[in-house]
Amino acid sequence: KMTFLTDMEIASQSEMLPIKDVAHALDLHEDDYDLYGKYKAKLNAFELEKMQDRPDGKLILVTAITPTPAGEGKTTTSVGLSDGLSKIGKKPMLALREPSLGPVFGMKGGAAGGGYAQVVPMEDINLHFTGDFHAISAANNLLAALLDNHIHHGNALQIDSRRITWKRVVDMNDRQLRHIVSGLHGKVNGVPREDGFDITVASEIMAILCLANGIVDLKEKIRQIIVGYNYQGEPVTAGDLKAEGALTALLKEAIHPNLVQTLEHTPALIHGGPFANIAHGCNSVLATKMALKYADYTVTEAGFGADLGAEKFIDIKCRLADIKPDAVVLVATIRALKMHGGVGKAELEPENVAAVLAGLPNLEKHLANMQEVFGLPVVVAINKFPTDTAAELKAVEEACQERGVEVVLSEVWEKGGDGAIALAEKVVELAERPNTFRFAYELEDSIEEKLTKIVQKVYGGAQVTLTPGARRELLELERLGFAQYPICMAKTQYSLSDNPTLIGAPKDFTVTIRQLKVSAGAGFIVALTGDIMTMPGLPKSPAAERIDVDAQGVVSGLF
Ligand code: ADP
Ligand code: MG
Repeated sequence: KMTFLTDMEIASQSEMLPIKDVAHALDLHEDDYDLYGKYKAKLNAFELEKMQDRPDGKLILVTAITPTPAGEGKTTTSVGLSDGLSKIGKKPMLALREPSLGPVFGMKGGAAGGGYAQVVPMEDINLHFTGDFHAISAANNLLAALLDNHIHHGNALQIDSRRITWKRVVDMNDRQLRHIVSGLHGKVNGVPREDGFDITVASEIMAILCLANGIVDLKEKIRQIIVGYNYQGEPVTAGDLKAEGALTALLKEAIHPNLVQTLEHTPALIHGGPFANIAHGCNSVLATKMALKYADYTVTEAGFGADLGAEKFIDIKCRLADIKPDAVVLVATIRALKMHGGVGKAELEPENVAAVLAGLPNLEKHLANMQEVFGLPVVVAINKFPTDTAAELKAVEEACQERGVEVVLSEVWEKGGDGAIALAEKVVELAERPNTFRFAYELEDSIEEKLTKIVQKVYGGAQVTLTPGARRELLELERLGFAQYPICMAKTQYSLSDNPTLIGAPKDFTVTIRQLKVSAGAGFIVALTGDIMTMPGLPKSPAAERIDVDAQGVVSGLF
């Protein structure tokens, strides 16, 4: 059995540069950033206004084939690719999401890359970081407090307490809080109602912070949040509660992107982290836009597989932020290909060339989507795991080459930037190619047309159907004037379809939309194909049981 250093061991053996040195290497002046200790800083987002005339660098999206539950290494590949770009003499910058505390203590562990492709200081990034998520929780919960306070003091807005859609949040996996009754214990203690908590990353405030183009836009988006409906069925907004000013004040630091570094000192902006199901799953627009100004290559990641992550990155984030990617890296792993070739989760390690090849249709569908639906140049990066055999890797490379697919072996987990030289060179070449970038649908399409285009073009399905409830909601959204919003699909990440057991590249399936709701502040319509968990729980043996801190304050167990 092979043994490897843990991510924490690798990270703690690396020598970080003081973050001011990383900032100076970007030609930043001391006024352009605020230090958060020695190894973290916040870049001043207000500087973006002054940089409008600077040309943007190239934008590289890292996405993946339909993943296994363990994740296929998008973050790891993004980090390694940016280090590889540094190695070949380019000026890259990473733009990534901030990890949520929930998964850190649950099953998945940290989310700062892995092996020799990590962002540091990983324990800070995984635990509180610069406090953005706490600020978002506070802003979210201030709105909840203002709402219930309004009802308590006479409810002039006639808010129907059975139709309140705004929930409180906490950044923790805590199933106990999913469904509660609040406001108990008599007249002075509020008005009792059915209530519940979401995890902070599911807050609409998170999605808004990540889509805002600046602080004024942030405030305007917050004003438009719908918190519930009145007895006449009309929406009640944060603006009706006069909440937008105070909420935005709570976010005045959180809006600035956080600067850290990779193990190899490549600058990384880690900022915001919305859910990838009920929200769009990308780091903040401000971080991406600032990276585009400071670097000649911005490497960014979108959550889940390319059917969800890349589609929303393009159709929501790029559209609303008016940015466009220049090239796409599609991460594939031997284990995920085996899964799509029909191998069960317990059997993914032993060599099985036939299963790997049988899984290729999933890769080919995602690849075709990037090229034909979105018009972008793509390279497949095979993220090499220690358990992959030479025969398996060779089989995938040859099969890709036979099909004319550009493919590169990526060894960043084992070798850091040195494991991504070939990938970096290929990305530089792709980003120079002319592309025919386009969206999967137009905003002018009806809600049903948008849904149909996503299902047919991106998922490869036959059609979309709406339950009677979803059909009623569609009419209501049209009546309220939201028909021109983009769609945020909330479906399983484990299949191109809405059925997690349909592996590979399923065809002729129907996607059923069970609920349609608007995130009016963030500016998209969420289409749910099933129950989406917005407050996860901890597993029977949570990672928290293995996390510790010693007498010197050194943390262990964060993987
Ligand atoms: P994603 O961003 O796609 O969810 P991550 O990059 O976070 O995936 O990787 C998921 C997990 O797999 C992490 O724990 C990471 O350390 C691990 N991992 C990623 N790539 C490799 C690899 N090539 N070899 C071994 N472990 C890896
Ligand atoms: Mg990731």
